[in-house]
Amino acid sequence: MRALRIGILEGDDIGLEVVPQTVEVMLAAAAKANLAIDWHPVPIGKKAFDELGNTLPPGTLDKLDTLDGWVLGPIGHQAYPRNNPNSINPHPILRRHYDLFANIRPSKSYPGVPCIYPDVDLVIVRENNEGFPPDRNVHLGYGEFRPTPDMTIGIRVITRQGSQKVARAAFDLARTRRRKIVTAVHKDTVFKMACGMFAEECRKVAAEYPDVTFNEVLVDTMAAKLIMKPQQFDVIVTTNTFGDILSDAASALVGGLGLAPGLSAGPERAMAQATHGSAPDIAGKGIANPYAMIMSGQMLLAWLGHKHKVPAALSAADLMERATEAVVKARKVLTRDMGGSASTQQMGAAIAAAI
Ligand code: ATP
Repeated sequence: MRALRIGILEGDDIGLEVVPQTVEVMLAAAAKANLAIDWHPVPIGKKAFDELGNTLPPGTLDKLDTLDGWVLGPIGHQAYPRNNPNSINPHPILRRHYDLFANIRPSKSYPGVPCIYPDVDLVIVRENNEGFPPDRNVHLGYGEFRPTPDMTIGIRVITRQGSQKVARAAFDLARTRRRKIVTAVHKDTVFKMACGMFAEECRKVAAEYPDVTFNEVLVDTMAAKLIMKPQQFDVIVTTNTFGDILSDAASALVGGLGLAPGLSAGPERAMAQATHGSAPDIAGKGIANPYAMIMSGQMLLAWLGHKHKVPAALSAADLMERATEAVVKARKVLTRDMGGSASTQQMGAAIAAAI
């Protein structure tokens, strides 16, 4: 088997702190599991703008085309220079260019770590390229417009194919989990055509997975259920914006955004990307929690291991998961948001050492 080709895109703000720790941990796991990885630093974000004049330099996509996957740090596009065609938010472009249609966001809590519930273990699978986001739901132009100064129209896109693909990703994931339950979240009672189509496709896919339990919950009911009894959920599949909101809420149940990893996966490639943003309020202080980014890297190795049938990548992912959980459960080297006093670097080093 050839070496896996993995890109390192640090992103902005705390990305410059949590991504290097993630790479350290992935390196340790790869060494232990005898996994060959070719690493490729790729420019993106504010640093790329300052050095190369573009937040998504022309060579970046060419480079990514040659890779199996990459680790993307959070993007702080709100702070990019305004009205400059060279300072765009690269997110939607990456997601669409590589058809990264499934955004997989786990929320898992640990007893002893500050959280609302110590026994949550769920994953939200969110459709990533359709729905409401106006910067990615149309081919050309922008999915919001203002016909008069006092009226704005926003559009939402739902396709059968997109719904089916994300539903299948959720059922495939559920099959690998202990409880094997998929809950489709929508509001087909009101959005009869859009949510209706999404729900129909989920039901069709459910019929192909008789070993997985399937149920449906309306999104507003879900908001309440998630807060009252999140333990009942295993895999939740939903449309773009519902998933974005519910996954931030789910992260709060288990201790906050520092504990919320994520993977955006497509037919050929996957991108490790934590749920949190670039957190400019804590950037440069060495206090960001690297857990979310490290576990996103773990998800990437697991995905690549399955996709390319590389047992060493699966072993490396398993090592990363066990080492991270061991450090979290020992509660000796944790960042502040997890109730400790360690720095980002110390926590990353402790996880690498545990491997
Ligand atoms: P975006 O819209 O880009 O997703 P956001 O508005 O959700 O960003 P974040 O940048 O994720 O905002 O930050 C939200 C809060 O969570 C901030 O107070 C931030 O400090 C905190 N936070 C985010 N990530 C981490 C982390 N890895 N460790 C500790 N705190 C974090």
